[in-house]
Amino acid sequence: MTVGSSIGAVFAGNAGVTRRADLVARDAALRLSGVRLPVVGAARVYTCGITPYDVTHLGHAATFVWADFLSSVWRLCGVDTVGCRNVTDVDDVLTRAADQRGSDFAQFALQQEYLFDKDMSALRVRRPAYEPRARHYIGAVQQLAVALLAADRAYLRDGFVYFRGAEVAARSGLSRQQALARCAEFGDEPQDSRRDDPFDVAVWRSSVRGEPAWPSPWGPGRPGWHAECAAMALSVFGASVDVLAGGEDLAFPHHAYQAAMVEAATSVMPFARARLHVGAVCQGGAKMAKSTGNLALIADLLRDHSPAAVRLLVLDRPWQSAWEYDPSCLDRAAGRLDRLYSAAGRSASTGDATTAAVIAALLDELDVPRAIEAALDGGGEAARLLLRVLAIA
Ligand SMILES: [Zn+2]
Repeated sequence: MTVGSSIGAVFAGNAGVTRRADLVARDAALRLSGVRLPVVGAARVYTCGITPYDVTHLGHAATFVWADFLSSVWRLCGVDTVGCRNVTDVDDVLTRAADQRGSDFAQFALQQEYLFDKDMSALRVRRPAYEPRARHYIGAVQQLAVALLAADRAYLRDGFVYFRGAEVAARSGLSRQQALARCAEFGDEPQDSRRDDPFDVAVWRSSVRGEPAWPSPWGPGRPGWHAECAAMALSVFGASVDVLAGGEDLAFPHHAYQAAMVEAATSVMPFARARLHVGAVCQGGAKMAKSTGNLALIADLLRDHSPAAVRLLVLDRPWQSAWEYDPSCLDRAAGRLDRLYSAAGRSASTGDATTAAVIAALLDELDVPRAIEAALDGGGEAARLLLRVLAIA
């Protein structure tokens, strides 16, 4: 089914709405991170999900709300999306958090996942079709390691399999010092003298007593983080995806290495047609992080504000920009939501032209602020459509 004919099917049965479908069909391709993304069949969206070791804060939630909204905009133009959002439930941070509480890491992860799911459903984030857990993809990581070894893109040392990563760092656009600092920040241990180059990263890691371990051809061990996501994406979608989504801090090293490993194993390039790297949420001038303690927890925000206001707070801005949260932001979002509801209750003055302007804004880098201005100006069906696409109706 073509995009045009599927739009017809989606909006069939209502003359006004069919006209809107025509407006969409003229220019149905979404533009994201500067890339036009026409889709044949379903769009594949891989979102780097949570490491389930703590409750969800606004900074985490922003990524998942944006990925959900991306699917919603594609659905508006008749494009189905297949989402995959992994759970990183094999990770040293998680193991340490579980140890501190005297819990088994797998059981502890499941408890945290339950709380995460509760926050996501409150924010009306739809469940993706696939939610792979890293501990179920150990065999796939080992297959990836075998493929990378066979292609001479990885080497075996002391029970570790290391991916050769010097080129990945060179292509990152970061200085060597910046790249080294980011690798160290994300646990890649560039100072480890076992590897040939500081930018080589572990596909497979040897485990010592007390660390999670699975049997492998190289001895008991566990996957490296970037390899987990590479193996899960390969297993669910094959060699490529339409959009790779995650917080902006995942661009390097995590997404850069994930893509490089998949490309090296499959010879298919690029792994991702476009990237949705969502801007950081800050509080008190610093990025929200457990280590800084400057967190706005979703459960706390929802005590005083509607899920729709929190969702609009996240989406009413350029997706790639970092922003500062303070409690007054939520009051402003609630006020803007009220104005949108009022606009939706008005009779439309400009009809299809306003609807076309709303849709054009959404297809152009998911420009919600521009879509809201158009909807507030024109009102009526265009505002109601926008409320539905934002999932705040
Ligand atoms: Zn990932």
